[in-house]
Amino acid sequence: MTLSKRLYPPAVIGIIGGGQLGKMLAQSAQRMGYKVTVLDPSEDAPARAVCHTFIHAEFSDEEALIKLSVMSDVVTYEFENIDAHILRNLVSDYYVPQGAETVLTLQNRTTEKNAIKASGAAVVPFENISSGDDVKTFADKHSYPLIVKTTTGGYDGKGQYYLESEADLADENIPFEDTEFIVEKYINLEREVSLTAARSAGGEITYFPLQENLHRDQILYRTIAPARVNYFDQAKAEAEKIIDAMLFVGVFTIEFFIDKDGELYVNEIAPRPHNSAHYTIEACNISQFDAHILSVTNQPLPEVYQHKDAIMMNLLGEDLDRLDLELFDYSEWNVHLYGKSDRKPARKMGHVTILTDDIDEELVKLKKNFEKES
Ligand code: ADP
Ligand code: MG
Repeated sequence: MTLSKRLYPPAVIGIIGGGQLGKMLAQSAQRMGYKVTVLDPSEDAPARAVCHTFIHAEFSDEEALIKLSVMSDVVTYEFENIDAHILRNLVSDYYVPQGAETVLTLQNRTTEKNAIKASGAAVVPFENISSGDDVKTFADKHSYPLIVKTTTGGYDGKGQYYLESEADLADENIPFEDTEFIVEKYINLEREVSLTAARSAGGEITYFPLQENLHRDQILYRTIAPARVNYFDQAKAEAEKIIDAMLFVGVFTIEFFIDKDGELYVNEIAPRPHNSAHYTIEACNISQFDAHILSVTNQPLPEVYQHKDAIMMNLLGEDLDRLDLELFDYSEWNVHLYGKSDRKPARKMGHVTILTDDIDEELVKLKKNFEKES
């Protein structure tokens, strides 16, 4: 179903997924006066504490998803891996402005990269593979190092195999029989950046500043915004090609690689709020979560501006183990804890945003306070 009218509070926003992204979406929606219903398989999903109604159900439970949709004036999702058949049914019967096709294309790295390439945006050389021999054939053409990734279900570097040479291929024992993979050229990275944008149901588009992302063990570790490299216009031009080729509604983020030669490549696209844009809560006139709610309710989108430079750092379980009682000692830290009860070393438990006039000075201070290094 499509909708051309604007949805005003107290309209009900139904959110599929109650993790931290769902929680921050709900908080933003409620601030504006909307009501929120959340569906999540976890009893203690972070968003449960901040929604009007919670439906405890699996993402594969079509009946429960229909129940959510019936209760809601608009349905949105923070979770990408919804079953294609169920999602298409929801989209045909209820108001789900993000639609089904874009998220289904982006669920699979092969269809995602093919779509990005077809839009004319640059991607690193890649190929769909099903055996070690396929990797060798690709290596003959593109040479090592390479990275092999599962086509579905990967996040925070899960399901990825880095191959420095052919010897690693034998050592890694990649389970080709179990699932589908792609191989791609491993880039000698100069930097990683991301661009977050929002497109409203009415077609209006607004862009957030370019973000610079630092990863550790393939998990986002810090975001610096604005990025300390001047690639906004180039990234926006790539984003425009993708927006022309795929229909986005709501907030989405395009991740980019910049290699040592200064070439920009699109890595992947998240059709939902993204970790690298959490800093927008404190640093911008609207947050990515506000932008998403305004988009799906078809309200006008403002031009985004950033008040102050920002650093966002994730709080993983292992960071909390170290910092627990000190989190509030540094008054410049804006602390966000998601309320997850199960703390694991590499699990994202929260984040901290710092607004600053001097990114470099702040980074030095952070290293000392956050990592306990001198
Ligand atoms: P995920 O879905 O887990 O975020 P990504 O493809 O974004 O998967 O990979 C996670 C991180 O691993 C990237 O942000 C980057 O730091 C590193 N990485 C992935 N692919 C490459 C590549 N081809 N070349 C260099 N680094 C890469
Ligand atoms: Mg990524």
